[in-house]
Amino acid sequence: MNEYIILNKNQCKNCYKCIRNCPVKSIEFTTHQAKVVPGECILCGRCYVHCPQNAKEISSDLEKVKVLLQQKEKVIVSIAPSFIANYDGVDIDVLRELLIELGFYDVEETAIAAEWVKDSYQDYLEQYQPSILITSACHSVNLLIQKYYPDLLEYLVPVKSPMQAHGQDIKTRYQDAAVVFIGPCISKKDEADSYPGFIDAVLTFDELSMMIQEKGMSFNQYKNGDKDDEPFKSRFFPTNGGIIKSLNHYNDDIHYLSIDGVERCMATLDDIRKGNLTHCFIEMSACEGSCVGGPIMEKHHKTPLRDYLRIVDYAGEHNLGRKTSKSLTKYFMPITKKRNEPTIEEISSILKQMGKNNPMDELNCGSCGYNTCREKALAIHQGKADFTMCLPFLKERAESFFHNILDHTPSGIIVLNEQLEIQQFNKMAKRIFNIHHRRDILGEKIFNILNHKDLEDILHKHTQVNHKNVYLAEYKKTVKETIVYDDNYRITMIIIDDISQEIINRKNKVLMSKQTIEVTDQVVEKQMRIVQEIASLLGETAAETKIALTHLKEQILDE
Ligand code: SF4
Ligand code: SF4
Ligand code: SF4
Repeated sequence: MNEYIILNKNQCKNCYKCIRNCPVKSIEFTTHQAKVVPGECILCGRCYVHCPQNAKEISSDLEKVKVLLQQKEKVIVSIAPSFIANYDGVDIDVLRELLIELGFYDVEETAIAAEWVKDSYQDYLEQYQPSILITSACHSVNLLIQKYYPDLLEYLVPVKSPMQAHGQDIKTRYQDAAVVFIGPCISKKDEADSYPGFIDAVLTFDELSMMIQEKGMSFNQYKNGDKDDEPFKSRFFPTNGGIIKSLNHYNDDIHYLSIDGVERCMATLDDIRKGNLTHCFIEMSACEGSCVGGPIMEKHHKTPLRDYLRIVDYAGEHNLGRKTSKSLTKYFMPITKKRNEPTIEEISSILKQMGKNNPMDELNCGSCGYNTCREKALAIHQGKADFTMCLPFLKERAESFFHNILDHTPSGIIVLNEQLEIQQFNKMAKRIFNIHHRRDILGEKIFNILNHKDLEDILHKHTQVNHKNVYLAEYKKTVKETIVYDDNYRITMIIIDDISQEIINRKNKVLMSKQTIEVTDQVVEKQMRIVQEIASLLGETAAETKIALTHLKEQILDE
């Protein structure tokens, strides 16, 4: 399958909303990007509708259509019946006028072919009397059965969709014409490519609006027709139950039921698989409310009841009675992919790596996008998911990491909320404030344990304090206090270092230095005294020596 839903990598914020909404979990997150897995996707468009970042984009056929308009003499539009709801009050005549001005040759309603399709459903039911008949107008439902319920393919009525039947008929009537289908659906793009020969390009209503805008045109330029355009029954097709409503007659032995939304369709298919349903004509639509709730409508035009009423107002009670000369038979083949099934041991090992060591740890909270932890483990095994997608696991890991750091830091750390209540209190803070159990203090006001001068003012004004020495008389401790307010998270962090011992050590050191200086002074003084005494003794001796020598010299001179 081609890629019809493309990820804009720059926009994706890895929030998992798409996988949470994907009914068949066909999105992989291995490179921290929510990439659709085309082989598994049924193109229901839920990921496109629900992505809050608009990171999912639909592949566009606009350029292809522009080329067709240049190359082909006749490019004919088959417009889905939900157009009347999407283009508020714009009828087929207005649409035709505008599209012809855009370069198209003509516009026809796909609902014309829906009449042949519902007739074929009825013929098939009467001729083959299947115990269950599932309508095949919705390509996403067809893909769902082909990919996930291939054993139920026998119940899918082998009839072309209105889009295909219409394309086929237009091409029979107009030789060499190109047909462009326009509607609210993404999966029709795949249907057109997978069954070539009927439809040359598929535009969504959004793409058509873009084309109109590019040309600077608007529906306001045109007037609505006078509504004598034969309202007909099969215009009900895009509503939930619309196919059943458009049938000509009903068989008393059959239950005519309609079901919408992929999850509800899957639940019904599960029930059929179990053999719990029989004698049912089931109209199945992947979108809630059927095509009028298609992804393009749901994303940009969320007014389901008004949309429904517009369709009801536009449809009628009669058949058009036109016929097609072509066969509407279509065969559906299974589209299965060999999946790598893990052993019980492999799943257990993955669960352990996810921090799920026993069944109690399996929260099945769904925040990763998978309904159960085991489903998520299976996706990891298939290479579609990674461990980091489990939020409780990540939270637990981050908390344990945080507490480890908090409890091994040499400073006391206290975290307060906006109400100045204690939210975090680490081991060192317990020691500084003589608290036995953290639980005794968590949630208490900070002033119950710390209430020095200025603190209230600092905390209320969010004043930053850096390494300020504070004496806590109550605890007979001197601390160095740092107070920081985090504007983003609106929390206050108080970091406290007990420096009482440091101060005692410093005092002792000063005392010791003083004593040492005193002793040194004494020694020096004593030494000086000795030196002086020696000096004076030396001085005396020198004087006596001088006298003696002078006396001796005089005696020698006299002689
Ligand atoms: S919904 Fe999916 S695609 Fe969109 S931002 Fe979230 S993870 Fe990405
Ligand atoms: S289109 Fe539907 S099936 Fe495909 S990935 Fe999106 S949500 Fe899933
Ligand atoms: S606990 Fe984790 S793995 Fe299990 S469902 Fe929740 S997020 Fe997914």
